Amino acid sequence: MEVEVSARIQCPFCGQRFDLVVDTSARSQRFSTECEICCHPFDVVADCEPGEVVALEVYSE
Ligand SMILES: [Zn+2]
Repeated sequence: MEVEVSARIQCPFCGQRFDLVVDTSARSQRFSTECEICCHPFDVVADCEPGEVVALEVYSE
């Protein structure tokens, strides 16, 4: 099974949407990424089932 899936997220700073690859082998995870458009770093919390991203939230703290 493919555990790395791409999910569409929205940057909390500039509002642009882009695709992020998430490793769904971890059920609940928090990691940092940065916007592809404005390059601001931010945190992402992903709830996953193997092969599927169930929920995704972004934090701009
Ligand atoms: Zn951005």
